Amino acid sequence: MTPDHISLHNKQFEPYLSAVELQAAIKQVATQLNQDYAGQPVIFVVVLNGSFMFAADLLKEISVPCEVCFIRVASYQGTSSSGEVKEVLGLTEDLRGRHVVIVEDIVDTGHTMRMLLDTLGGQQPASLEVATLFLKPECLQQELSLRYVGLSIPNDFIVGYGLDFDGLGRNYPNVYKAV
Ligand code: 5GP
Ligand code: MG
Ligand code: MG
Repeated sequence: MTPDHISLHNKQFEPYLSAVELQAAIKQVATQLNQDYAGQPVIFVVVLNGSFMFAADLLKEISVPCEVCFIRVASYQGTSSSGEVKEVLGLTEDLRGRHVVIVEDIVDTGHTMRMLLDTLGGQQPASLEVATLFLKPECLQQELSLRYVGLSIPNDFIVGYGLDFDGLGRNYPNVYKAV
């Protein structure tokens, strides 16, 4: 079901990317991954909740031997001047010596990805790369090496295909942007 306009918590959204456009971008990322990791086992670390649809579609296209695990990022207000503190939850896998790919829905300022790369990198994986469906280049505040990017988009707030606005909107197969 892909309605024209949607309203979530009284905020209006208009159609932005179709399911066909999303699948084309995902297929490109998968092709790149299959080439780069040919013959090498990979562990995909999926960042919930937003990445669940992307991960499902991406992983169906992956042909190298791989494992999949799931983590979450918890945010809370710290007491230091740095403000928000982010912490990784659910990382039980031993990543030492493994080829690791983080699967993320969207990189905006890049603070979340910086923390993820530092935390996972601390386990001394053999390699560590990022596959993100969306990147907002204008918003990036961190120097990150993002090897696999589905789509670079302007600084709009988007929902659908796993991404939410205050809990709602994750279920749509296409992506909407705030009007
Ligand atoms: P960052 O740490 O890169 O600023 O933000 C990453 C997180 O912010 C994403 O994982 C996502 O939860 C949220 N986010 C950033 N931009 C958007 C957006 O346009 N739409 C939605 N739904 N979430 C976003
Ligand atoms: Mg995310
Ligand atoms: Mg969210």
